[in-house]
Amino acid sequence: MTNLSALLEDTVAQHPDRTAIVLGETRLSYAELDGAANKVANLLVSRGVQPGDKVALTCPNIPFFSIVYYGILKAGGTVVPLNVLLRGKEIAYHLDDSDAKAYFCFQGTEDLPMAQAGHDGFSQTDGCEHFFVITADPAAESPIEGTETLGRSMAQQDASFATVDVDDDDTAVILYTSGTTGKPKGAELRHRNMRDNALAGEGIFGASAERPDTYLCVLPLFHSFGQTVIQNAGFAFGGTVVMLPRFEAKAALQLMLNEGVTFFAGVPTMYWGLLGALDESPVDVSSLADNLRVAAAGGAALPREVHKDFQAKFGVTILEGYGLSETSPVASFSPKGEDPRVGSIGRPIDGVEMKLIDPDPGKREDLPEGEDTVGEIAIKGHNVMKGYYGRPEATDEAIVDGWFRSGDLGRKDADGWYYIVDRSKDMIIRGGFNVYPREIEEVLMSHPAVSLAAVIGVPHESHGEEIKAFVILNKDTDETPDSLKAWAKEEMAGYKYPRIVEVVDEFPMTSTGKILKRELS
Ligand code: AMP
Repeated sequence: MTNLSALLEDTVAQHPDRTAIVLGETRLSYAELDGAANKVANLLVSRGVQPGDKVALTCPNIPFFSIVYYGILKAGGTVVPLNVLLRGKEIAYHLDDSDAKAYFCFQGTEDLPMAQAGHDGFSQTDGCEHFFVITADPAAESPIEGTETLGRSMAQQDASFATVDVDDDDTAVILYTSGTTGKPKGAELRHRNMRDNALAGEGIFGASAERPDTYLCVLPLFHSFGQTVIQNAGFAFGGTVVMLPRFEAKAALQLMLNEGVTFFAGVPTMYWGLLGALDESPVDVSSLADNLRVAAAGGAALPREVHKDFQAKFGVTILEGYGLSETSPVASFSPKGEDPRVGSIGRPIDGVEMKLIDPDPGKREDLPEGEDTVGEIAIKGHNVMKGYYGRPEATDEAIVDGWFRSGDLGRKDADGWYYIVDRSKDMIIRGGFNVYPREIEEVLMSHPAVSLAAVIGVPHESHGEEIKAFVILNKDTDETPDSLKAWAKEEMAGYKYPRIVEVVDEFPMTSTGKILKRELS
């Protein structure tokens, strides 16, 4: 098995009639999913896409995400899934940065024409030769000049395809993430990285094709957590993936009850949302407790209260894990068969090692073992990415001797369980979405009235964190916090723009001129 797409193909061979995906009234069998993905692969080949070419994809959690994802893989291409909320300029940046040759975009994405045209400040997206619009009506004509409609174009293709053989070390997926350094970087994940992490589901969750799970898919599929733990593992173990394009707690709860969901994975705010939905309209959740085999949390720290309340009200224990886009993503998880320790991210999964190193960016020595030791978590194993696409320096900084430095501060107890103490990077996680302050600061500072900007996360009841910007304005401007907020809203994806803007006269600074963010609040 080399190509990641074999995860799907092996199940197709054994259980062609089993339901692979459910979305509302639509039910897609494994054979139907595979046939549709084959059509996409044939389409790409017919348009001249070669093995190794990058193909970008913006699509919510609908069957087309999986159809296009596996179609690209089958053709030997590299999938570049993009956040569905990115706006035109941002899409253009990602197409350009990843050298995408083709782009599949869900019709609802407003700014496709802008992305297509490239944008000032980025080199034009000349290399991107094919634009496919994913429409709800597959027979529809393409609404945008210079693009074709996926449904119409697929209709002309054959439903069988001989999957292109690839090397295990070839890049299967590029996932964009940016850490502290501002602009998003593409984490290159090999076929074997993604495959081994999905197959680890057997050891971590007890996943088995003999007792297939029904997965609720509310984590966005463009992100590694949903992509590996739900989509790829779901298909590898012959499960049924029940999709919900947008997380809405009440609808999610109803689906879990109606579909007899056995496997749920979510970020902590989703668990918080489910608790709220149950409070608002109480329903009998006893069947959910009977069915639900796994409730997994990750992506951000799970508040103790949420853990406790979920156990009390749903009768289900949440198991916490930890990982990053760069680690495919799962690095550690609450070990099977042992009582979960609240606040812990568990132990490294099989084939993965973790250790604590000096978090000083200039150093990376191992820290002495001990329960009081707090250090930066470093990770080594089958899950660690190849590197950042087109950024050898950033790769060399991140991975030394196979050890990837996470940017997260942690500690370890006497039994080898890890705990996240804090993020050493400044990343803000708002409602489960990662927001990178530096990127927002740069956009804010592109406004003619803004002299300097600093962005931080402040605690927020439902989003976990809210984005707050401090700005120093140039003299003689009429701009106000409200007008800047309105401007920022147009410039950035909805989950990124600061909801709170405060005008200040100066920032606290270190002696080297760095803004002391921890003194801002
Ligand atoms: P991403 O690359 O989007 O997957 O984000 C990875 C980051 O999410 C990590 O570096 C952590 O800061 C954070 N994260 C993931 N899982 C956890 C967890 N269980 N507890 C705290 N932070 C987490």
